[in-house]
Amino acid sequence: MNSSFRRQRILVTGGAGFLGSHLIDRLLDRGDEVLCVDNLFTGDKSNLDHLAGHPRFEFMRQDICFPLYVEVDQIYNLACPASPIHYQFDPVQTTKVSVIGAINMLGLAKRVKARIMQASTSEVYGDPSVHPQPESYWGNVNTIGPRACYDEGKRCAETLFFDYHRQHNLDIKVVRIFNTYGPRMHPNDGRVVSNFIIQALQGQPITIYGDGQQSRSFCYVDDLVEGFLRMMDTGSEFPGPVNLGNPNEFTIKELAEEVLDLTGSKSKLVNKPLPQDDPRQRQPNISLAREKLDWEPKTQLRAGLIKTIEYFEELIRKNDADVPAFQVAQ
Ligand code: NAD
Ligand code: UDP
Repeated sequence: MNSSFRRQRILVTGGAGFLGSHLIDRLLDRGDEVLCVDNLFTGDKSNLDHLAGHPRFEFMRQDICFPLYVEVDQIYNLACPASPIHYQFDPVQTTKVSVIGAINMLGLAKRVKARIMQASTSEVYGDPSVHPQPESYWGNVNTIGPRACYDEGKRCAETLFFDYHRQHNLDIKVVRIFNTYGPRMHPNDGRVVSNFIIQALQGQPITIYGDGQQSRSFCYVDDLVEGFLRMMDTGSEFPGPVNLGNPNEFTIKELAEEVLDLTGSKSKLVNKPLPQDDPRQRQPNISLAREKLDWEPKTQLRAGLIKTIEYFEELIRKNDADVPAFQVAQ
């Protein structure tokens, strides 16, 4: 720990999830105290097992739709189901956690005068008509479609963050996260990276929705968390929003071929219907993050996939004792 470091007490909502658990590891590594608040809807305590007994870590099981009375210096607000299958499972609750959860966390930040960061999303751009997407693009979202509970919930949360900033002078940070992958992704959340890896490892058909020509840009989790920390530690004159993601864009078919190559799997590619309102393309413009945070992703897709494949191989090995195969969500 360097001598200028000042230990902070940091609240991470959604900390038992994929991104939150990696963020907590980094915060503890640099010497902070962490309070994780999570209702375990999509998160899993096993993501935090390695922290059991850690003197600077505390877990509290709570839904952030209910007020929370704690004393902290900083808040990372990550609590929200993140994959289409999970956020569409109970869409009303998804809007509630995005909006009411944000109001509760903003109220907490205001009372304790904490800096607060919102985990927003590239979904605020909807099915974008501007490519790649800069922060200045206002988006193209279907307000009544099946993705709207998440997209509009997250958009409203951004509005609330900026209104608390203007109205109450709250110190806010907003990051717009693009597709991120890595170890501790939920094996059953229906996301493309976890689905393809699990299918390939188990010799099941790789399910390509539509013709596979739609594109995404995949960021490895360690790069993203580095972006979180840099954003949280910049001056209050830069509230964001700032895009965090990897600008290297791949079609879904290219991703499937990469996974087959790296796993040596003989799985066949099969086409399934494209979900409604599935964005055709997505790529972050990260000029602002480069300029303001001196940040850009370092991990190439192949290197990140290798680590993610190792994680799922281990998970499947452990799981074999109980159930013979993972059924990915579709
Ligand atoms: P995740 O599902 O693994 O983690 C979300 C966590 O929030 C889970 O642990 C879940 O149990 C918890 N949670 C959900 N509702 C809650 C509630 N009402 N109260 C308390 N806890 C609650 O998802 P993730 O991929 O780690 O995403 C974390 C955040 O980042 C989310 O806000 C998501 O919208 C955002 N994000 C993620 C991605 C990505 O690619 N992973 C992309 C864009 C935005
Ligand atoms: N997808 C796919 N097969 C799968 C899961 C997803 O072809 O088994 C596609 C999906 O239709 C979308 C892309 O992969 O075009 C990314 O989907 P994901 O759910 O990972 O993220 P999002 O759509 O939120 O970017």
